[in-house]
Amino acid sequence: MRLAEATVRFGDRAALDSVTLDVAEHEIVCVLGPSGSGKSTLLRVVAGLQELDAGQVLLGGRDQSGVPAHRRGVGLMFQDHQLFAHRDVGGNVAFGPRVRGAGRAERDARVAELLSLVGLPGAAHRAVASLSGGEQQRVALARALAPSPRLLLLDEPLGQLDRTLRERLVVELRDLFTALGTTVLAVTHDQGEAFALADRVVVMRDGRVAQSGTPLAVWQRPADEFVARFLGFGN
Ligand code: ATP
Ligand code: MG
Repeated sequence: MRLAEATVRFGDRAALDSVTLDVAEHEIVCVLGPSGSGKSTLLRVVAGLQELDAGQVLLGGRDQSGVPAHRRGVGLMFQDHQLFAHRDVGGNVAFGPRVRGAGRAERDARVAELLSLVGLPGAAHRAVASLSGGEQQRVALARALAPSPRLLLLDEPLGQLDRTLRERLVVELRDLFTALGTTVLAVTHDQGEAFALADRVVVMRDGRVAQSGTPLAVWQRPADEFVARFLGFGN
């Protein structure tokens, strides 16, 4: 995935200000930054849910301008995961276009496989309302993974969970993405989560990239005072 000098303006304010960002295949990148720094806008642009005022999104080397969200081959999971309450777990996981188009046996097998992957084997016939918050988040993840997206976009994927569950899930997620070879671009407020999940972290400030590097490099050598403060050094 490549974002090249991407700019999005709302009125006279740039939510993204000429951002260039590369995510390599199989890489897990976490975007950190204060509220309003442009993290969700960045994901929305890559997903095709937000138009660019300038710049480009490239997926597999191809310019995505004019390519609608459902044709981009990206999986999406947002904080308010919005499962369909009137469908059971299996119905939610199988909702994606490619899975829905398959025959019944193939679809059931795929749903079972995905639910095992996210640690909910045998849950296909459970009602969504009977699941805990963490279980619902896993179902949302299985749904996002269902079409085998070449790129998975996660916006605060563990946002509604308590710390203990987040810490456990983040390790499971890293193992899962590594095993599947999924390329991931994830947004989080939580630097502990980013550092545990990511191969590389990107710190945003006012619609720009303040720093990009391995978690260790960013932690040991913050690029400037803003990044240092954001990481909680000094006051
Ligand atoms: P948070 O951590 O609070 O989710 P964020 O980093 O995801 O913040 P964005 O949602 O990307 O921030 O917003 C970046 C800036 O763009 C903010 O100032 C926001 O108010 C503005 N913005 C985002 N979407 C719109 C919109 N549809 N109309 C007007 N302004 C918007
Ligand atoms: Mg956001």
